[in-house]
Amino acid sequence: MSLAVQTADLDVIGAGFVHLDYAATAPCVRVAADAVQALLPRYGSVHRGAGPRSQASTLEYERARAVVATFLGCRPGDQVVFTRNTTDALNLLARALPPGTTTVVFDGEHHANLLPWPSVLRLPAPSSPAEAVAAADRALGDRTGPALLTVTGASNVTGEVWPLRELAAVAHRHGARIAVDAAQLAPHAPVSLAGLDADYVALSGHKLYAPFGAGVLAGRADWLDAAPPYLAGGGASAWVGDRAGDVRWATGPARHEGGTPNLLGAVALGAVCAALLETDRAALRAHEQELLTRLREGVRRLPGAVEVSLFGTRTAERVGIVSLALPGRDPVAVAARLADTFGIGVRAGQFCAHPLVRRLASVPGGAGCGEAGLLRVSFGLGTTSDDIDSLLGALGLLLG
Ligand code: PLP
Repeated sequence: MSLAVQTADLDVIGAGFVHLDYAATAPCVRVAADAVQALLPRYGSVHRGAGPRSQASTLEYERARAVVATFLGCRPGDQVVFTRNTTDALNLLARALPPGTTTVVFDGEHHANLLPWPSVLRLPAPSSPAEAVAAADRALGDRTGPALLTVTGASNVTGEVWPLRELAAVAHRHGARIAVDAAQLAPHAPVSLAGLDADYVALSGHKLYAPFGAGVLAGRADWLDAAPPYLAGGGASAWVGDRAGDVRWATGPARHEGGTPNLLGAVALGAVCAALLETDRAALRAHEQELLTRLREGVRRLPGAVEVSLFGTRTAERVGIVSLALPGRDPVAVAARLADTFGIGVRAGQFCAHPLVRRLASVPGGAGCGEAGLLRVSFGLGTTSDDIDSLLGALGLLLG
């Protein structure tokens, strides 16, 4: 069933089983598949070549960049760098930090936003949005020298949305910058650099209904233009002399996009961004919230399953991601039964967020789940109430 507010462009392609693992990789939507299909017979090299294929491909690539810039609310002067995924985007930012920068992160982060930073101050995962803001305020107030606060937009474990505007205000009050890992937020809600007053945003195409291979780092140009190129090579270099080290690096996105770029990935991602910009996202969100309520109420009636939460199950705003502790059960075995017996795909384990999952899996009644992890249900475009009911029915049989 597709929503009335949603154009056919955003219908997911492929079907046949209940896929509730969008947080890992979302299915591809029609407009992305069509964009790739249209380009296959006529692509050529990007920014390298005089022929018509090359010219058209360069145009498509730069069009995709412009659409992504609009999608992410870029300000004049912001850069959009195409990367492989969010991990790649955050590693690029980590390499572009001015010397001596302290990065402040919370332990609630995905490893992609926990591990790349050269000099990092880790704060305990907060138990409310207000606590996150207060902790960031203290940590940034105490430091000297340049600082970057980097935070997820929505948790890949609990789906809870972080107080981005407030955190951006705190960072800027202390002369620091803020980066938003929007891997999980962007597929569910608009993310705007200008609107949030954030400095950087990172996302992955494969979580945003495009196929694999393209991600984005968008934001302030100065650190990126001053940093050594992320990938040294052709494309990143404007001029190369005859002696070792005799090179003038490009500025702008090309500086960090060394090598032949992923045209198909960028164009597919741009096509999804364009379609989402044309769509009533508030209506999509309302539908998603209905599914979320149905799922969470159903989970409360299940024996032996406890929804985990960072900020408290009642209060926080969240996207379509819910994780369950299953006291006394192995979530990996339950996920395998869901797949094998019921054709339902979810994820079990620690979701590349080990510190957070260890903490959340020790919920009252859930003690002992720590290392085995949690069972995560995540959804988005194309998910129906029947999908949620199928999952709840299957879990009722398996846990009862
Ligand atoms: N950040 C968050 C919040 C994520 O959920 C993920 C992946 O699950 C990542 C970063 C890393 O994304 P990728 O594997 O596409 O680099």
